[in-house]
Parts: sequence; structure tokens; C-alpha cells
Amino acid sequence: MTAPDPVAAAPAPAGVLPLRPELAGDVPYGAPQLDVPVLLNVNENPYPPSEAVVADVAAAVAGAARGLNRYPDREFLGLRGDLADYLAVESGVRVAPEQVWAANGSNEVMLHVLQAFGGPGRTALSFAPTYSMYPEYARDTHTRWVAGRRTDSFDVDPAQARALIAREAPSVVLLTSPNNPTGTALDLSTVREVLDAAAQVPGGCVVVVDEAYAEFRREGVESALTLLADHPHLAVSRTMSKAFGLAGARVGYLAASRDLVDALRVVRLPYHLSAVTQAVARAALAHAPELMAQVGSLRDERDQLVLDLRDRGIRVAESDANFVLFQVGEGRHEIWQGLLHRGVLIREVGPEGWLRVSVGTPEETAAFTAALWEVLGI
Ligand SMILES: *Cc1c(COP(=O)(O)O)cnc(C)c1O
Repeated sequence: MTAPDPVAAAPAPAGVLPLRPELAGDVPYGAPQLDVPVLLNVNENPYPPSEAVVADVAAAVAGAARGLNRYPDREFLGLRGDLADYLAVESGVRVAPEQVWAANGSNEVMLHVLQAFGGPGRTALSFAPTYSMYPEYARDTHTRWVAGRRTDSFDVDPAQARALIAREAPSVVLLTSPNNPTGTALDLSTVREVLDAAAQVPGGCVVVVDEAYAEFRREGVESALTLLADHPHLAVSRTMSKAFGLAGARVGYLAASRDLVDALRVVRLPYHLSAVTQAVARAALAHAPELMAQVGSLRDERDQLVLDLRDRGIRVAESDANFVLFQVGEGRHEIWQGLLHRGVLIREVGPEGWLRVSVGTPEETAAFTAALWEVLGI
């Protein structure tokens, strides 16, 4: 038997593929995935799950596998209930399972939000520098994208935010707290002002606070979950990708009013969360305290890293996340490259002249600082 020749991959001549004009020239988003010893570029938890977690996840997957001839539970209230229980422990705020929504990463949750509340003729608004995926969700849902500016300390100015919301009349406002790539957490008084301004937009406006890094926030920094009870137009999104150390499982979620969640249920693809994903997430959530055991030490390490960088005269943004944004000025690409040559991959992202590094294990962080002092000659 001879294998058939693969079809030659001729490029499609112009006009053959009816690509949407706004996608022309666009490339798929993604941080470089390079094989180097020290990976500090995508804010993952550096600690893999323990063998006990691995065993329970594997058993749960085997259980799910026995039923894979059937479609999964479309409403997955079991998982939504487990996530609600987790939030109650983590932040002291109790929501009903029906107030929780989950999808394949909080990226997909955010897409559901824009599918339900964005769309042609509508506007989504955020404050830059912020998460570089948001404009892509807007593009993909034909939603107009407006980026206000954060202040020099990467904060959101409440008066400016109010004025911008009044002027642009968005139907979705995205606030990231702690923010990526800066690490900055917003004061809840600012979130309240934004919620108030959003409530005055004719036709309504949903405010999403993206708390992907909430578990890393410093003592005394409050979660926007505490505002849910009084704000039916608020959604707080979270993820199992960062503090939980489960980026590979693809589970993100949000908490909001039932009405808001019900709108997301309308736009999701049927059976979007596979039985395997649901089983993995529930097995992992049963181990929440253990999976999160390293959060405290990662926080301490982050605070120490900030001090070490400042000791060498480097400007560093305040961080409530598991990464640090620091200023290098001219030639950031060469500096990034110099670190890569020394086996340390970090992220070239954010405002010109700044670089972002994730907090790794103590050994990885030490490798990073040693390499950085060498590259900078300090
Ligand atoms: C990492 C990150 C997420 C998480 O995305 P997942 O799809 O859940 O992995 C969401 N928002 C921000 C700002 C992030 O940095």
C-alpha cells in the first residue's frame, strides 16, 4: 500500500478566501512557546499538581471516560456549585450555583460576555495598558473597541473613567484587577464609580472585573465579589489557570447576577464544557487548599523580587499579581534577548521600555535576577 501524496499547500490566491477585511494581515495571538530552562513568560504557577491531585484527577477522568458516549451535562450545576463554594471560602462572598458561569478558560467566558452584550453598533471599553486579548474578543464579536488610558502609576482615574463612559456609552466595560501586564489592583471605590457611571448608560452597560490574579492580592485588597449583591450589571471573572496551577485544564469562570449568567447561557455553544474538563475541574477543586498552598510563598517571593529590583535602582510597578512589570528603558528587546540567551524566557509586553516577569520557584527567580544583573551590567 502506498500512502497518498499530501496535497500541496499552495497559498490561496487573493480573492479565493472571503476573509473578513478586519482580519486581513492578522496573525494568531500567542506568547512565544520556546523550550528553555526557565519559563517566566505567561504567569503560570511554577508548581505542578502533587501526585495526590494527579491520582484524583486521573480517577475522575476515568469515571468521565466511561460515559463519553453521551453528551456532557450542559448546565454543569455540580461544577458551578463547587466554584461557588470555593469563592465563599476564598473571599467570604456566597453566591448561588446559578450565579456562576464557566467555560474553557476565562478567555471563553469573556467571549460569551461580548457575544451576549457586545456586537455590531456596540462598544466595549477598557483602560490601557491592559490585557492584550480584549481587543481580539471585540474584533471577533464585531464590537467597537475603545481604550482609555491608565495613569502614570497604571491606576484608573475615576473622574476620567466616568467622563469616558458618559461619552462613549459602552455596553461592556472591562476592568482588570490586578491588571495584566502591570500587576496593579484597583481600589474598590474606583470600581464603584465605574459601576455607577455604567448604570447611567442608556440601554445599560455590563462591567466585568477580570480578577484572574485575585488570589495573589496583598493583605487588605478587596475583591469586587463583595460588590455583587448590589450590582446586577457586575460580573467578576476568575480562572483556574493562575493561582490554582491548572492552566492546562482550561477552566475559567465568573460570578454575577442570575440574569447576567442566563444571558451567557443563550450564546454558549451547546456542550461547550466537556465531561472530561468538568471532571478535572471538580477533582481539582476538592484539593483547593493543597493546590493553593504555594500562593502564600509566591506572594512573598513577588514582594521580595520587587524589593530586589528597586534596590538596583529599577522602577517597578506595584504588583498584586504573580508577576512584576519593571522598566528597562531603551533596548528592551535586546535585554529580553539577552535573558533568553541565558536560558530565561520573560515577556516583552506592556508600555515601551518595560518588561514583565512571572514569579517562578525561588531557583527560577534567582536565575532571572542573576541573568538580569548580568545583562544590565549592574
Ligand atoms: C491569564 C489571564 C486570564 C486567564 O485566561 P484563561 O483563559 O482562564 O487561561 C484572564 N485574564 C487575564 C487578564 C489574564 O492575564
